[in-house]
Amino acid sequence: MRALLFEKPGQPLRIAEVPIPKAGPGHVLLRVHACAVCRTDLHVLDGELTQPKLPLVPGHEIVGTVAEKGEGAERFEIGDRVGIPWLGWTCGECSYCLWGRENLCDKARFTGYTLDGGYADYAVADQRFCFPLPDFYGDAAATPLLCAGLIGYRSLVKAGDGKRIGIYGFGAAAHIVAQVARYQNREIYAFARPGDKEAEKFALELGAVWAGGSNERPPAQLDAAIIFAPVGELVPQALRAVGKGGIVVCGGIHMSDIPSFPYELLWEERSVCSVANLTRQDGAEFLALAPRVPVHTEVQTFPLAEANDALARLRSGKIQGAAVLVTDATASG
Ligand SMILES: [Zn+2]
Ligand SMILES: [Zn+2]
Repeated sequence: MRALLFEKPGQPLRIAEVPIPKAGPGHVLLRVHACAVCRTDLHVLDGELTQPKLPLVPGHEIVGTVAEKGEGAERFEIGDRVGIPWLGWTCGECSYCLWGRENLCDKARFTGYTLDGGYADYAVADQRFCFPLPDFYGDAAATPLLCAGLIGYRSLVKAGDGKRIGIYGFGAAAHIVAQVARYQNREIYAFARPGDKEAEKFALELGAVWAGGSNERPPAQLDAAIIFAPVGELVPQALRAVGKGGIVVCGGIHMSDIPSFPYELLWEERSVCSVANLTRQDGAEFLALAPRVPVHTEVQTFPLAEANDALARLRSGKIQGAAVLVTDATASG
């Protein structure tokens, strides 16, 4: 099968012909149909996430059909369409796992980081961490739900019940969160890279009540803000935009350093928090909610072999919605 291999930070992925992996006990082998490209993949490739398995097949928003089942893997049938997310395995024994916070598991393993992912024709996953997918979505369209959607949803829950929500960085996660927030009768204020009029237009099309540059003040005081852009300077800017008791949620896995800021920005019970990974519960909730909204995902597809090009476009902000790698097995949509 074809696989894209990450071997060393700073180097492009190398396409290689490798043996199809075997599904071990409790695991399933998926014929990959589509796999989205995530900002986290860039953090891995750039060496900002420092513990990858090597060589590594990146990709953690995988949609495929079950091609083979390992011993005792009875949850799915051959041919079932399932999704593989970032969270690939947890210990089930640590205090985080036992308290329903498996996203924080000390020993967690992650797809496309410490486990091989979906930039390939086949991928293996622990069946317990796979999700059945709503029929509403085609293969490519379903992929962004598995990380952008899940992390976005977890970030929105963390942001609390406030009505006016700011979103910094209008990429794959934001375009999904905006639709969920609107469905919940909230107002979205979208902040894009200064001067990125295309992103502002995209945000307004998705129902944002206001869109502007991240250096601008919104026309109303916000109840919460979610930062998806990996830019630490946005934290004090977002704190300036939220009112008393406001919450600033950092939704990414990596961010540049946050500059120091005066205490008055945090005063009056404003808070800053991060969102780490996902739980299977988040997945079940969000994948049930998405087709009810219904969340429409905007995707730009690339053949598997053009992964480096897709990553470069994501890096330069040239992707509207999500970039998705597709294989020969991809069904339409
Ligand atoms: Zn991701
Ligand atoms: Zn654990």
